[in-house]
Amino acid sequence: MENLSSFDLFRHIVLTDFLRYFITAASAYLIFWVIFKKRWRHRIIQQRQFRNGQLLCEFGYSMSTVAIFAGIGFGIVSLKRAGFTLIYNDFGDRGALWFLLSIVLMVLLHDAYFYWTHRLMHHPKIFRYVHLVHHQSINPSPWAAYSFHPFEAVLEAGIFVLIVFCIPAHPFALLVFLVYMIVRNVFGHLGIEFLPKNFLQNRLLNWHTTTTHHDLHHKSFNHNFGLYFTWWDKWFGTEHPTYRKVFDEVTSRPRVVTGAGETLINSESGKALVVLPLLIFSQILSAQTPIGTWKTIDDGDGKARSIVLIESAGEGFLGQVIAIFPRACEQPEPVCVKCPGERKGKPVKGMNILWGFKKSGNVWTGGSILDPGNGKTYRCKIWLEDSGKTLKVRGYWGIFWRTQTWYREG
Ligand SMILES: [Zn+2]
Ligand SMILES: [Zn+2]
Repeated sequence: MENLSSFDLFRHIVLTDFLRYFITAASAYLIFWVIFKKRWRHRIIQQRQFRNGQLLCEFGYSMSTVAIFAGIGFGIVSLKRAGFTLIYNDFGDRGALWFLLSIVLMVLLHDAYFYWTHRLMHHPKIFRYVHLVHHQSINPSPWAAYSFHPFEAVLEAGIFVLIVFCIPAHPFALLVFLVYMIVRNVFGHLGIEFLPKNFLQNRLLNWHTTTTHHDLHHKSFNHNFGLYFTWWDKWFGTEHPTYRKVFDEVTSRPRVVTGAGETLINSESGKALVVLPLLIFSQILSAQTPIGTWKTIDDGDGKARSIVLIESAGEGFLGQVIAIFPRACEQPEPVCVKCPGERKGKPVKGMNILWGFKKSGNVWTGGSILDPGNGKTYRCKIWLEDSGKTLKVRGYWGIFWRTQTWYREG
């Protein structure tokens, strides 16, 4: 690497980082979601399908992250060549013990860096611009490992800069750390809990995060910010209150009984590699539904007001407020003051504001929508426009109605 020209060096780094992501994510996806799909079906943490185009979207953002990581990696290697970093080439300079210790220190430093930058990205004023892209995956797939907005990718890459200026590291120790990082990251987004039922009872192991741990973060947003270990969430009271219960429930499910030969959908990896792009592209072609995340706009100032997640529920849908963008004069965590009944005084974030609906041609009717501003519930009809990019939401009171346009976020 020392003798490469700058252009060749950059190409080399782009390819290495792409392969680091692609080989790990593709292997996990093929093994758990394609080849042994039926073997792991009962362990799918959120028992629902990926939304239309989700995998492709995760892959697309991951490619932008590869480019950004490679750019920063190129900068670091250039600084190393100029003698500005603590990276050392001669293994004998610091010995085997430091080699091992340096890897442990890198993992611990990254875990702390991730927890605090992650909490920062969840600040209501920052979330939408930096971290929302990653949270478009409510039920993430392994392809979501690098699915970051470019701003988030730069922040995530900050750990490399921190490491090369704080921890003397041999290039091979850095490589071990990079492999550990992507493997843990991909498993965090696997969507399938593959660990044994007694994992959380084992005191030597249970301080490692599990797939369920990070999956719950994607589902509920406000808990489980940790990356490799559970202790930061424990120390700062952000561990999901039902983490252990959900892990127990998922790992206790009976295995789905399949007929002989059905356990493997396809044991030939060659065929499976053909299946993979087909699976991804079939998602784009499948019919559009309101399922997904939507940005709502304030009628008053025309600015984004909230993000609503619409999921399928029975025959219809359920829409939940998952993020709010308060104005400068408003409370950061507004509550529904005028709501009647059990919703009264409850935070608007996390509240179900849309429910019911039945498909009737190209529209969904017979639903209800709650306006948390005045606490009133209206009859509601919704339909998609603009190739599924916008959702028209019409609320009725008596013979009057008002139609809002929501914009697809994911
Ligand atoms: Zn994630
Ligand atoms: Zn997050």
